[in-house]
Amino acid sequence: MGGPRLDSVKRVALLGATGSIGRQAIEIVAAHPELELCAAASGSSPLDDVDAPLKQVGGDLTELLERAQPDVVLNAVVGFSGIHATLWTLAHGIDLALANKESLVAGGERQLATRQAGGGRILPVDSEHSALAQCLEGRAAEEVHSLVLTGSGGPFRGRTRDELLDVTPEEALAHPTWRMGLKITVDSATLANKGLELIEAHFLFGIPYELIEVVLQPTSVVHSLVRFRDGAALAHLGYPDMRVPISYALTYPARAATPTPPLDLTSLTLEFEAPDTDTFPLLRLARDAGERGGTYPCTFNAANEVAVAAFLAGRLPFLGIADVVGDALARATGTPARDVEDLLEADREARRLAEQGLPVA
Ligand code: NAD
Ligand code: MG
Repeated sequence: MGGPRLDSVKRVALLGATGSIGRQAIEIVAAHPELELCAAASGSSPLDDVDAPLKQVGGDLTELLERAQPDVVLNAVVGFSGIHATLWTLAHGIDLALANKESLVAGGERQLATRQAGGGRILPVDSEHSALAQCLEGRAAEEVHSLVLTGSGGPFRGRTRDELLDVTPEEALAHPTWRMGLKITVDSATLANKGLELIEAHFLFGIPYELIEVVLQPTSVVHSLVRFRDGAALAHLGYPDMRVPISYALTYPARAATPTPPLDLTSLTLEFEAPDTDTFPLLRLARDAGERGGTYPCTFNAANEVAVAAFLAGRLPFLGIADVVGDALARATGTPARDVEDLLEADREARRLAEQGLPVA
């Protein structure tokens, strides 16, 4: 009969198709006959070379999803603007392959309620969370002792605050192990990315913040680990290559082949160190925001988005990013995150506060 059966084809809606994750996702979909793109979207860049029956540049992502009726949504949009697509997917009980961590962080408690109501499943694409989900799979909550989230430490690991006074966007964008979009690369340099990931892990796995440790592992080979109550720790290892977690999320529960080479253990050195949160305060600010709960994670995220954009535009020094976020968190109203309107309001307020915290042009 030839060719895959129609009902075995998974229809993927790819949001953020022109980005770093989006491009790699297109490669994964093209390599697997059981996956097909049913829709592709970008923010402003053209989609001419993307082959999908429905394409949309800008505009309302939920309208596109309504038309596409996907089996899985890969949300690879950058920033808070991905939140409506995340909520729509969870509310419709459709699998959400989630790269857009900002939407989960900002929407936290709200998303969980939506996921419960809609029955939607989140398949994390973030490499650390993909690793954690794999180490946790099939385990009861009471068997888990704690989570260890690993990070490379970014290009400025080991520097003092004095050595960071004059760093440029170009230097911040020279990430040692991962090639990614601009915003997440700056977040990796400030450790805001690890902060977002801490909150992401809390919401994804329901583990309290005090049981989530962050450790630096400069070569990004250990993607995270879970400690269990019997003293065993399970780690997930691999070369830093986002095609692996993208493929895992899209082909789950199968584990499809990827072009990534097998790990050559004898050529590796694995060293671990504690993060320096005095030099990189955004990790501490994220933990505080997460522990305060309600709309604080949303505030952290929005203020960080504004500060990173200002840094990239040359309007704010590198160390100013944490100052702007800390200041916005201190001044924010902070409410329970009851509905989307609470989140949108917290996001607007945080952007306003962060703008006020920027140096006058
Ligand atoms: P990127 O900047 O390379 O790409 C972002 C994509 O989102 C682009 O296609 C852009 O057109 C699209 N976009 C932006 N705003 C949009 C909107 N309002 N509507 C529709 N599309 C919009 O970013 P990236 O590095 O691919 O990261 C995407 C997400 O994945 C981020 O949340 C990031 O934190 C997360 N992530 C990325 C990596 C990585 O290796 N790049 C790793 C882990 C997690
Ligand atoms: Mg990550």
